[in-house]
Amino acid sequence: MILILHPDTDRNSSDYRDLLDYLSNMPGIRFRVHQEQGALQVLTEVYLIGDTAPLRLEDMRDLPCVERVVRVSEEYRILGRHRDDTRPNGFVYNGVRFDQDSLNLFPGLCAVDTAFHVELMLRVLKDKGITCTRMGAYKPRTSPYAFQGHGRDCLNYVFELCGKYDIRVVAMEVTHDKHLDEIHEALQQTGNPTGVMLQIGTRNTQNFELLKLVGRQTDFPVLIKRGFGITLDESLNAAEYLASEGNSHVVFGLRGMKASGGDPHRNMVDFAHVPVVKRLTRMPVCIDPSHSVGTRASSPDGLLDILHAACQGVIAGANMILIDFHPEPSKALVDGPQALLLKELPQFLEEVAIARNAYIQRLEVARRYASS
Ligand code: PEP
Ligand code: MN
Repeated sequence: MILILHPDTDRNSSDYRDLLDYLSNMPGIRFRVHQEQGALQVLTEVYLIGDTAPLRLEDMRDLPCVERVVRVSEEYRILGRHRDDTRPNGFVYNGVRFDQDSLNLFPGLCAVDTAFHVELMLRVLKDKGITCTRMGAYKPRTSPYAFQGHGRDCLNYVFELCGKYDIRVVAMEVTHDKHLDEIHEALQQTGNPTGVMLQIGTRNTQNFELLKLVGRQTDFPVLIKRGFGITLDESLNAAEYLASEGNSHVVFGLRGMKASGGDPHRNMVDFAHVPVVKRLTRMPVCIDPSHSVGTRASSPDGLLDILHAACQGVIAGANMILIDFHPEPSKALVDGPQALLLKELPQFLEEVAIARNAYIQRLEVARRYASS
């Protein structure tokens, strides 16, 4: 059960203290307070954990400070969609809005290799007015002998260059608490020139200790990738771990499922699940056509499979695209064969705009039929 308090409830007021006193004395119920800074006001929510079934909604609504009460199903209590749940979804981070209505593009390097390549990438993004990117510094690799990412060594120049080219948010995977400290340190040393979205990779979707650690911090939003070999429910529960620890600024990423049925693509593209995730949860949904498709193959129509997949996700309502580009894919240290070329960025943007418009038109058609 979630108690939604009146906007701008004063946490020093006697009413608020009375509420917490009351909740503290409820047998078998624990609670957690969550605050959300909205555009105009602070939203305070109190999550009640335990056997809340016998509690009557009317009684809870009568408690001091309480505006609304939502009875949540067992699943995805914080990030899920529940009946009569009109809580807003999404969040703003470093000036960029992430929700189930927006679309943010994160073209960038799978893995940072040289400052020169980072700069070439960011220059074309700025030229096109793109303010988000991906730049992998810590790369979990299948082979222990493969390049593992420059890690801490590249962070200062990546952040400085992001600042120079007006990048508001850079997505990068983390796999260890040390990485969070290093990101904090590098941002501080460079004067906070950009924002960071922490990425939980598909290999770590069920690394529960990492999820708890990343969920306990609220400085950075999180992109959690779907686990490539587990059910959607298991991956959504993994996202809920982040929120249950305190960070509900979470984007859910579809990146394809490992299955021989997906051959010759690297993974089985799962972007038909964009609306499913939006229906089950309030998270914005990201698609990663690069890691799903994994090849620069194109069809007789002349379009790259990666662009087909990207547009399939967008026309289904995706809210973010994480996509690999590289100035010289043959020199990329990770995933060169799936990287788009910088000269392909304008085509990518045009195709995405067409797919996005088609999605918006589909919504209009659906609304028209619903009201007729
Ligand atoms: C990535 O985005 O760099 C990545 C490794 O993706 P995934 O975890 O989905 O394989
Ligand atoms: Mn990659």
